[in-house]
Amino acid sequence: MAKDTFLSRNKIKIPLITKSVKKNSIWVISLLMIVFLIFNFFMTLQINSYFKDTIDARLLHEIEHVKSAISIEEDSLRITHPDEFKEADMVTVTENSFFLQIFDVSHNLVFRSKNLDNYESIPRKKIAFEGEYHFFDCNIKYAGLRTICAKLIDSKGQFKGCAQLSTPKIKMNEVIEKIIFFNLSTLPIVTFLFALISVFFIKRTLNPINKIINVANEISATNISKRITYEAENTDELGRLKQTLNDLFDRLESQIDEIAHFSDNASHQLMTPLTVMNTELDFILKNEHTPDEYKESLMVVEFQTKRMIHIVKALLILARDCEICATSKNVFNFSALVEDDISKIYTDQKVSFDVDKNIYLLGESDYFKMVIENIIGNALKYSNNEEVFLSGKISGDRVKIKVEDKGIGIPDEEKDKVFGRFYRGSRSVKDGIKGYGLGLSIARLVVEKMNGKIYILDNTPQGSVFIIDLPLVNLV
Ligand code: ADP
Repeated sequence: MAKDTFLSRNKIKIPLITKSVKKNSIWVISLLMIVFLIFNFFMTLQINSYFKDTIDARLLHEIEHVKSAISIEEDSLRITHPDEFKEADMVTVTENSFFLQIFDVSHNLVFRSKNLDNYESIPRKKIAFEGEYHFFDCNIKYAGLRTICAKLIDSKGQFKGCAQLSTPKIKMNEVIEKIIFFNLSTLPIVTFLFALISVFFIKRTLNPINKIINVANEISATNISKRITYEAENTDELGRLKQTLNDLFDRLESQIDEIAHFSDNASHQLMTPLTVMNTELDFILKNEHTPDEYKESLMVVEFQTKRMIHIVKALLILARDCEICATSKNVFNFSALVEDDISKIYTDQKVSFDVDKNIYLLGESDYFKMVIENIIGNALKYSNNEEVFLSGKISGDRVKIKVEDKGIGIPDEEKDKVFGRFYRGSRSVKDGIKGYGLGLSIARLVVEKMNGKIYILDNTPQGSVFIIDLPLVNLV
C-alpha cells in the first residue's frame, strides 16, 4: 500500500483571525470592558466622596463663623456680628456661594442671607439628629446643594434653633459629569484598543500551536519519520501536545512500516506459486505433450492454486484482524470437535489425543479448528512426523490445551518471535523446511481474541510444547 495514502497535507486556507481567536477575543474584550466599567464606577464614587468631604469641611468651617456671629439669649437669637453675613459669598450667587438660613426653636425663619433674595428659598429639613451638626443633600430648581444644619444651643444647653448653610455642588457635579462624558466618548476607542490588544495576545498565545500544526501538516506519509522539535517544557500544554503528537507519529510510523512489511511479504509469498504456475503453463502451451505430461503439469498448477488459496485465506484473517473471533457469541464443544473431526484428519499419523469431556469454548469453531490444525501440522512438520500428543484438561474455570512434539524445538529467543507475521524460525530455515510464517500469527490472533493466551515451552528430552490457555464456558 502506498504510504502517501495514509496522510495528506492540510490545504485549507486559514483566515487571519480564526474562529477561536474571535471567540476568545470576545471573551477577553468583555472581561476588560467589565473591569474598565467597574474601575470607573469606583473611581467616580471615590471622587464624589472626596468632593463631599472637601465641601463638608468648608461648610463646617463657615458654620462656625456663623455661630460665632450669633448670640443665643433666653428667648431670642441675636446677630452680634452682622459683618460676617455681608461677605461676598453670602451676598452674591456664584458657584461658591453660601446660602444661610437661621430658624428659631419653632422652625420659623428668622434670618436669610442676602443672596437668597435673588434665589429661591431652600427647604428646611425638619429632621431630628444626634450631635451638633447634620449634613444632607437637597435639590432646588437650578442646582444640587450640600447643606449643613447646626443646632443653636444656649448657655443652659437648651435648643434655641438652627443655622442652615448650603452651597452648590456645581463643581463636584461638573467633574463627575465630565468623567462620565469622557468615559462614554472614549468607550469606542477603548473597545477598539482592547480588541487590538486581545487579538494580539491571543494570536501570540496560539502562535506556537500554529507552528506545531504546520509541522504536523508537513509530516506526510513520505516523511513520517520527521518529528515536531518545538522547544517546550514537557509539563506545559504545548510540551504535552508536542509529545502526544510525536507519540502518535511514532505509532503511525511503526504501523505503516508493519503494513508495508506485511504487503511486501504477502506479495512475495504469492509470487512464488504464481511464478511456478506461470512456468508450468508456459511449458504446456509451447509444445505438444503426452497426456501424462499434461496431467502432471495440471497437478502442479492445482497444488500451487491450493497453496495460494491457503495463503490468501490466512492473509484475509490477519487483514480483518479476525473481528468475528472476538465478537462471536457461539459456544462450541471442543471435546466433540476433536473426537468427531480433528482426530479423523490424522488417522495415518502418529497423533494421539486425550481431551476431557464437555470442554465448551466461546468463539468460532472453524477458526479454532484451523489453529489446532496449524499447531499439529507444525508439530508433525518440524519433527519429521514423529509422535505428537494433544491433551485438553479442565482446571477450575479454565482449559489448558497442550500440543507436544519431539521435533527440532524452538530456541528461547525465538519463542515469542515465531508468533510474528511471516516470521520463520532459524532452525526451520536452516533445515530447509518449507512454510509461510503465517500459521502461528493466526493462532495467536484467534486465541487472544477468544480471551486466551498461547505460549511455547520446551519438551523433554526434545521438541516443543504449545500451550493454549482459554476460559471455559460453564453451561450448567
Ligand atoms: P511456518 O511453519 O509456515 O513457517 P508458522 O507461523 O506456523 O509458519 O511457524 C513459525 C515458525 O515457528 C516456523 O517457521 C518454525 O520455525 C517455528 N515453529 C512452529 N512450530 C514449531 C514446532 N512445532 N517445532 C519447531 N519449530 C516450530
